[in-house]
Amino acid sequence: RQELLRVDHLKKYFQTPGGLLHAVDDVSFSIRRGETLGVVGESGCGKSTLGRAILRLHEPTSGEIYFKGENIRNRSREKMKELRRNMQIIFQDPFASLNPRMTVSQAIAEPLLIQKIYTDRDKAQIARLVREMMDLVGLAPRLVNTYPHELDGGRRQRIGIARALVLNPEFIVCDEPVSALDVSIQAQILNLMQDLQDKLGLTYLFITHNLSVVKHLSDHIMVMYLGQMVEKAPAKQLFANPQHPYTKALLSAIPVPDPEFKTERIILQGELTSPINPGEGCRFARRCIYASEMCFKQNVALKEVEKEHFVACHLVEQATDQERRREL
Ligand code: SF4
Ligand code: MG
Repeated sequence: RQELLRVDHLKKYFQTPGGLLHAVDDVSFSIRRGETLGVVGESGCGKSTLGRAILRLHEPTSGEIYFKGENIRNRSREKMKELRRNMQIIFQDPFASLNPRMTVSQAIAEPLLIQKIYTDRDKAQIARLVREMMDLVGLAPRLVNTYPHELDGGRRQRIGIARALVLNPEFIVCDEPVSALDVSIQAQILNLMQDLQDKLGLTYLFITHNLSVVKHLSDHIMVMYLGQMVEKAPAKQLFANPQHPYTKALLSAIPVPDPEFKTERIILQGELTSPINPGEGCRFARRCIYASEMCFKQNVALKEVEKEHFVACHLVEQATDQERRREL
């Protein structure tokens, strides 16, 4: 499959009173057309900033973003607005992202007016498209003139999805789209998103703090910690053979033990430290039960341990070096 998006050495730093916040710190990856990359980590690890920086809702500090082969990092605001038809975002809290004074129909039509695809006068075309979108995301036609507060969380998120899809995009950043929903509704929305991907050939960057949410949806999963990618692998492989201590800890935190998860269970200790002035060494060192002196002093680089499986950990690096020596 063809590459749709590629991100090279992307950084997004914020100046804060306490110092320079390394929200996204040198992240590189690509996503092929029609695939889903799950991005996982605790809140504060930089996942949302990453999603927004790709769409340039936050201007990246440095690095490159290629969409369909074109570098969009320095595109003008006006040209970026055009491109946004093709690159959409679905937000975590559909209630906060919907205007309470807009009906379902108005909310779904709004992106068409903002993008000047239609004007207020094109009532028939707009109504037809709204009906089509409501059908696509499973909203009953009778809801067309209702308001967000009259609907449950699941239906509100269906409106959010319809708003993203009405411009017919190829790429969607899904920023914790089910985290605010009841568990029973989460599965419905995830199934809908999978169906829409299959039907429309969508490509997703799917952000979540919950690994089990992206397990079945993702082709690849990337784990982030304090602005950096610490592990990335095909989804099955990440679950079957996690290598980074942080990934193992996240997997251990899944309440219902996964039968496929056979490695040791690590309980995550301590709190997420601050990405402000992070300094040298592995950023996970203060919480890692395997941390050695070296981990606090020496930066870690990503290493490919198996095909398409990357890990940034001194321990894993040493183990693969030893293995290689044995093979020689
Ligand atoms: Fe733990 Fe060291 Fe690996 Fe960091 S580099 S995850 S501190 S073992
Ligand atoms: Mg998929």
